[in-house]
Amino acid sequence: MGMAQRRAQIPFPEAPRGVCRWCGDAILLADGPYRGERDIRRRWHPPCQAAWEQSDPREAQRRVYRRDQGHCAACGLDTEAERDRLGGRRRLRDFGKPRIPVWRVDLIVPLDEGGTFDLANFQTLCNRCHDDKLARQTNERLEREREQQAEALMARAEVLLDVSRRLVGHLRDATGEIIEQRAGELGEPPEGPAQITRKSE
Ligand SMILES: [Zn+2]
Ligand SMILES: [Zn+2]
Repeated sequence: MGMAQRRAQIPFPEAPRGVCRWCGDAILLADGPYRGERDIRRRWHPPCQAAWEQSDPREAQRRVYRRDQGHCAACGLDTEAERDRLGGRRRLRDFGKPRIPVWRVDLIVPLDEGGTFDLANFQTLCNRCHDDKLARQTNERLEREREQQAEALMARAEVLLDVSRRLVGHLRDATGEIIEQRAGELGEPPEGPAQITRKSE
């Protein structure tokens, strides 16, 4: 799913000190007498740590809001203005209650297709566009599954066809052998109708 509601898993949670828990590479000292050796005081490359922090859904939401101010990337709707217009402005008694979100953080390229947690891969979607995208993705997935099933069925049908062709071939050979065998046992071919008519003359 392309939505950023879960925090990313740390890929290397068990990495020893001096090995980055995010990318799995060694963290090397950049200068000093031990330059090029592992920096065992560290567990993250600084940019890797930033990437991990960016993957936090609340942090992603803050950063996306700072950039987009709740404007939908798909239809351009100013979601917060729309909420206020529809009377969703908070009243005093609503404070402390969780707000119904009017926009969502969406990952443009989903993680399982190589997307990252960079801000450039995040976009604001209004609830409607978000639902549309979700429905589209679900349809695409179902379509892919249907195609795969059809391909698997076709492959199976071809195997069956091949098996039955070979069976027919075997049967034909076997029948031929039996006929030859019977003919051999009888000595000569059975009398044909031509011989019979000749005898009756
Ligand atoms: Zn790293
Ligand atoms: Zn929209």
